[in-house]
This record gives sequence, C-alpha cells and structure tokens, in this order.
Amino acid sequence: MKLTVLGYWGGYPAVNSATSGYLLQKDGFNLLVDCGSGVLSQLQNYLKPNELHAVLISHYHQDHIADIGVLQYARLIQTFLGNELPTLPIYGHREDEQAFSKLTHQKVTTGIAYNPEETLTIGPFSVQFLKTSHPVSCYAMKISSEDSTIVYTADSSYQDSFIPFSTGADFLIAECNLYANQDGKSGGHMNSHDVAKIAQNANVQQLLLTHLPHFGKHDQLLEEATSIYKGNVKLATTGFTWQKGKI
Ligand SMILES: [Zn+2]
Ligand SMILES: [Zn+2]
Repeated sequence: MKLTVLGYWGGYPAVNSATSGYLLQKDGFNLLVDCGSGVLSQLQNYLKPNELHAVLISHYHQDHIADIGVLQYARLIQTFLGNELPTLPIYGHREDEQAFSKLTHQKVTTGIAYNPEETLTIGPFSVQFLKTSHPVSCYAMKISSEDSTIVYTADSSYQDSFIPFSTGADFLIAECNLYANQDGKSGGHMNSHDVAKIAQNANVQQLLLTHLPHFGKHDQLLEEATSIYKGNVKLATTGFTWQKGKI
C-alpha cells in the first residue's frame, strides 16, 4: 500500500497546505482518510476528485471534515458535465447523528456508519477501530492490506490502549499537537513523548508525527520523540509518501 500525506496541520491549515488528510492506495483503489481544510486542493496533485473510491472519517471536528462539502460539490459538478460517477461512500461513526447525516448529499455521496466493534472492509483494506480520548467521539484506525499495516491515531490524548493496538504496525501516523513539556490530557491531544512512548513500546517500524501545532519549532518535536523512540521518525509534510509492497 502507498500512503500520501495531503495535510498535516492541527486546527487550521497554514498557507498553501491542509489539515488532516491521507491518501491510501492499493490495487488501483483510492481511499481518503479524513478530509480536512485544503485537502481537496492537495488531492488534485495526485488524483481527480472523480477518482476517489471511498472516504473514511475519524471524527467530526472541522479540521478533519471541512472539505467534505466541497468534495460533494466537485463530484456533483462533474456529473453536470456529463461524467457518470458512482455514489461515493463516506464511512463515519454514528455517535453524532447530525454530523453523520451531512456525509450524504443527493446521489453524490452516501454516509455509511461503521461499527467500531467490527472489522470494516473497504476495497483491499481492512480497518479496525479504537476509541480515542478526545472531546468528541473519535476513532483511531488500524488499516491493513495484504502487504502492510498502518495505524492512524486520529486525535487523542495519550491512552495505554494505543500500544497493543499499534503493536507490530509497519507505520504509525500519530497526532503530535504538543511539545514534551505540555500536557494534552484535558485538550485531547498528545505530546512528542506520548507518541514516542507508543511507537517504542509497540515496536512499530516507523513513526510519522502529524496534526502539527502552529507554534514552536517542529524540529523540536522530532528531537523530543527520538529521545524515547529508537526507530525511524519523521515529521509529516505535504506530499510525504510511504510505501510497502505493491500498489
Ligand atoms: Zn484535529
Ligand atoms: Zn479533533
């Protein structure tokens, strides 16, 4: 599978970039995980909006869903132009009925509720969920294909359950919205030591720091994480790619 980072900012996008959005590709299937502000623009460096096969949403904070509406418009406009498109499935949890209902727009997109207790199959991917510690209901995801496994923490403060959930993953995409001297318990975010502890104890192959803050120097996050996690750690950047196996 191949991962491409479309957006990595927490809260709002800095200039010419985007908040959370990750493109996963395998066997010609294009899955978008989270669809934050600026993601639709960044996506078009790689794919037409018509070429997405499914979208998967961790939670209904704006920095993870802001571009759902314009993705719906993009697909609608393409149908006006004569392109016949299948209805795009957007998978989300159903613990916020009002937000979930917005995943459906005419015949353009359909919201599909995932059951976090069950493994979800989307094309070549199987997805397992873990509830996170966040002010609204949010799910981390373990996404596997025949050749690799990625874990995405989505938004969360530290919880021990991330360690067994991530154990053995090839790649851990961890939100790191805070520096080591900051405590995210009340705000629902992790600091650099929190994510490094998960990566080290879960023995993941590689760690990507994402959902980055709009303050401080991001290189400091990297330095703080490498003091605990002894594997390969990188800062998310627009267009960062990771691949294992064929796509
Ligand atoms: Zn967020
Ligand atoms: Zn959030």
